[in-house]
Amino acid sequence: MIQFDKVNKWYGSYQALVEVSEQIAEGEVVVVCGPSGSGKSTLIRTLNRLEPIQGGRILIKGEDIHRKGLDVNEFRSHIGFVFQQFNLFPHLSVLDNCTLAPMRLRGLSREQARERAHALLQRVGLAHKADALPAQLSGGQQQRVAIARALAMQPPLMLFDEPTSALDPEMVGEVLLVMRDLAAEGMTMVCVSHEMGFAAEVADRVLFMDQGRVLERATPQDFFNRPQHPRAQQFLADIRSPFAHQLENG
Ligand code: ADP
Ligand code: MG
Repeated sequence: MIQFDKVNKWYGSYQALVEVSEQIAEGEVVVVCGPSGSGKSTLIRTLNRLEPIQGGRILIKGEDIHRKGLDVNEFRSHIGFVFQQFNLFPHLSVLDNCTLAPMRLRGLSREQARERAHALLQRVGLAHKADALPAQLSGGQQQRVAIARALAMQPPLMLFDEPTSALDPEMVGEVLLVMRDLAAEGMTMVCVSHEMGFAAEVADRVLFMDQGRVLERATPQDFFNRPQHPRAQQFLADIRSPFAHQLENG
């Protein structure tokens, strides 16, 4: 479904993606991990054209999504994107947050859009908050609304960029559960996440990035138990025992 073909990306003179070639199948759940600054967000943002690339190609269902002449807004409306900051429309109710784009961009009637939104809010456990404003919700609830809002556009692909990183620890689980259900229903998902428990349980494949390169691609079982690349081994050691690294470095 998704094909990265020798993708190179620079920010000025800094190369943020180096010869990235990967394939992601329909229905696959891929978790991208790696140290801060390794290019994870950049990779995911090139997938919905939030970032241009300077070399290579990215195909989705055979279509070159960085080609000239692509209607970027139209294209982007078909890809669900959930990121750290939930960015709900603050002046709109939870329900209206979920109906706006389907009405405007997909031509749904208000009634159709509301029906769809209600079903999705039910699915993320927030049907009872339909009339609330975002500010009246917890962070975890807001992020679940953000997922429902993205799903309201019926995207074939969902991208997540550290969706739980801005949440208080007790709210991480409720968002991961929604993501797990989505994965179980067969959604194609690319998730940047530091939640290694989630990766171990839900991912079909883990990609490990460092310095703009994908250094390792493996099943979660292999990645967590038998990481091959020294940097992946170091990364896993660091996240398992954050103090060890500090001690080594004085
Ligand atoms: P990650 O998500 O893995 O933390 P990013 O993809 O955000 O990494 O960033 C990769 C590298 O590109 C980092 O060195 C970062 O400083 C740099 N970078 C990211 N965005 C920009 C930008 N808009 N302009 C210049 N450099 C950037
Ligand atoms: Mg990032």
